[in-house]
Amino acid sequence: MRAEPQSFDRVLSSMCTTTVPAAREAALQFLESNPGDPATFPVIDDLEQEAINYLGEIAELTKPAGYITSGGTEANIQALRLAKKRYNHETLNNPNVIVPETGHFSFAKAADLLDIEVQWMPTDTDYTVDVSAVHENLNDDTIAIVGIAGSTEYGRVDPIPSLGAIAARHDVLFHVDAAWGGFALPFTDHAWSFADAPVDTMTIDPHKLGRAPIPAGGLLVRSDQMLTSLATETPYLETTSQVTLTGTRSGAGVAGTTAALRALWPDGYEQMITEQQATASWLADQLRARDFEVIAPQLPLVPVKMEEKIVEQLRDRGWRISQTNGGPVRIVCMPHVDRPQLREFLTDLDAIAADRTTTQA
Ligand SMILES: *Cc1c(COP(=O)(O)O)cnc(C)c1O
Repeated sequence: MRAEPQSFDRVLSSMCTTTVPAAREAALQFLESNPGDPATFPVIDDLEQEAINYLGEIAELTKPAGYITSGGTEANIQALRLAKKRYNHETLNNPNVIVPETGHFSFAKAADLLDIEVQWMPTDTDYTVDVSAVHENLNDDTIAIVGIAGSTEYGRVDPIPSLGAIAARHDVLFHVDAAWGGFALPFTDHAWSFADAPVDTMTIDPHKLGRAPIPAGGLLVRSDQMLTSLATETPYLETTSQVTLTGTRSGAGVAGTTAALRALWPDGYEQMITEQQATASWLADQLRARDFEVIAPQLPLVPVKMEEKIVEQLRDRGWRISQTNGGPVRIVCMPHVDRPQLREFLTDLDAIAADRTTTQA
C-alpha cells in the first residue's frame, strides 16, 4: 500500500501527538502479542504490569491496579461499570452519575450502555464544576461523582478534593478523568491524584500526553479487589477470567506505553510539559496582543474566542482547529506544537485580519 500519513504541521486541535522513537520501536515488536490472554503471552503481561506501576507512581497510587485500555472512553465506561457493580441491582431504581458539563462525551456513551442517567453539572466562571450544584443534585440514586482533571475543552481541573469529600461522605464512587491532563499534572500545583483525595478510579491516557502510540488509554483502580469485581469468566483462554472490556487487545499499545514511560518518566515528561506550558502562555499573550479574548491557560491548552468567519479562513489555509458547541477555539499545545509553527499560524491570522480591514474599508 502506498499512503503517506498526515503530518502534524498544522494540527492544533489534537490531543494525540508524535510518539517517542523507543515507543514506536516497542510497538512494532509487540504487534502480534495479545495482552488480553496474559497466560499465553506472559512477556507482554509483565510489560503491562510495569506500565500500571508507572501510572500508579504518576497518580500517587501505592498499590496500583488497572490495565491499559483502548483509550479514555473505555476507561470511563469501565469506571462507571464498577460504580454500578457496587450495588445490588434490586436496590437501584434509576441510577445516575454526576458529571461536570465540561465532561467528555464518552460519559454519554457509557451512560447509554450502562443504562445510567447523567446529571450534567454547571461550571463556575473559572470553567470548573460548581460544587454547590453537585451537593444539591446528589440523591439516593446517585452511584458516582466524576471530576475532570484537565478538561478537553478548557484544560481546567475541577476541585478534586471537594468532590472527593462529597463522594466519600455519601459513599458513592469517585472517578477522576485525567485522560489528557494526567501526564502534566504531577508537574503543577493542582490537587488531582489518589494522594490528594479519596479517588476510587482514574482515567489517564498514555496515548495523549504520554507520547505512546494509539491505542493506549489507562484505567487505574484503588485496589485489586475493586478491579476484580469486573471479572468475567473466560473458559477457552489459558487465563480464566478477564476484567477488561475488550477481549483481544493491542500489544503495540501496551509495549509502546511501557517504553515511553521508561524513556520519559519523570524528567522527560517534566521537560516536555514545562516547554508546552511556556508555549501556551506565549501563545495566549500573542493572541491577547491581537485583541482576542483568551481564557487563561492552566495546562497547555489555549481556549480563544474567535468569529466563525476567521475560523473558516484559518481552516481554508489548512489549519486543523476545533471548537466546542460554538464555544472558543481550543489550541492544544501538544509536544508537536512549537513556536515556529505557531508564528506561521499568527502570520496567517494577521493576514486574515488585514484582508478584512481592506474589505471593510
Ligand atoms: C480524550 C479524552 C477522553 C476520551 O479518550 P479517548 O482515548 O479518545 O477514548 C476522555 N476524557 C478526557 C478528559 C479526554 O480528554
